[in-house]
Amino acid sequence: MSNSQNVNLDEIAKFEKVASQWWDLTGDFKPLHQINPLRRQFIIQHTDTLFDKEVIDVGCGGGILSESLAKLGANVTGIDMGEEPLNIAKLHALESNVSINYQRITAEEMAQESAEKFDVVTCMEMLEHVPDPSSIISACAKMVKANGYVFFSTLNKTIKSYLLAIVAAEKVLKLVPDGTHNHDAFIRPSTLIGWAEDNGLKCIDSAGIHYNPLTENHTLTNKLDVNYILCFQKIA
Ligand code: SAH
Repeated sequence: MSNSQNVNLDEIAKFEKVASQWWDLTGDFKPLHQINPLRRQFIIQHTDTLFDKEVIDVGCGGGILSESLAKLGANVTGIDMGEEPLNIAKLHALESNVSINYQRITAEEMAQESAEKFDVVTCMEMLEHVPDPSSIISACAKMVKANGYVFFSTLNKTIKSYLLAIVAAEKVLKLVPDGTHNHDAFIRPSTLIGWAEDNGLKCIDSAGIHYNPLTENHTLTNKLDVNYILCFQKIA
C-alpha cells in the first residue's frame, strides 16, 4: 500500500512495530549497530572533520548513525516517516546527551524547504524501502550544498544478496524479522549511480559493507555484491 507521497506505509509499519528494540544491541537492529562504525569511518574519510557541519540523515530511524555523527560535533537533522522510530530516537538522544533535530517529514518536502542547506546528506539502508528511490536521490541532491557530500547505502540486487540478506539473515538465522527485505527492491550500484548523476552528483568512492551473519564479522571491502555504500559530491 502506498499513499500519494513517496512512502510505502507497509514498510513504515514494519519499522514502527520493532522500534522499541532500536537501541538493543542484541535485538533486530544488531547488524546496524555492528556496521555503524564502518559507515561513520567511510563518511569522515571523505568529509574530513564534521565539527560544526550541517548534516541531514534521511530515513534516520532510531538514530544510530545520526547520534554517531552528532558526537563528532556535527549539527544533525534526522528525518523519517516513522512515528515510533523518531520517538525512540528523541528519547535516546536525551539519554546520550546529544542534541539532534528530529522531524517527521519526507525527503521530498524537506528538499523543498531546505534546498542547499546541508554540507553532508546521509541516507542509509532506506532506499530499498521506498516506492521510488530515484525521487529520494533527487531530494538528497537538492538538499546538499555545492561541493557537499551525499552518502547512500543499500543492498545490491544479486543472488548472493538474496542468499545472505534474505535466506540467511531472515529465514535461517532469524537475525532480523522475516519480511524485512524484498529482493525486488534491491538496487544495483550502476542504477543508483545513474540516478545520482542525473541529479548532478558525481560518484567519488564506493565500498562494500561485508557482514557475515554467522560470525558477525564486519569489514569494508571492495566487493559491492551485497551491502554497499557510495560517496557522491555535488558538482558545483
Ligand atoms: N538509516 C537508519 C535506519 C534504517 S531502517 C540506519 O541505517 O541506521 C529504514 C528506515 O527508513 C526506517 O526508520 C523507516 O521508517 C524509514 N523509511 C522508510 N521509508 C521512508 C520514507 N519514504 N521516508 C522516510 N523514511 C522512511
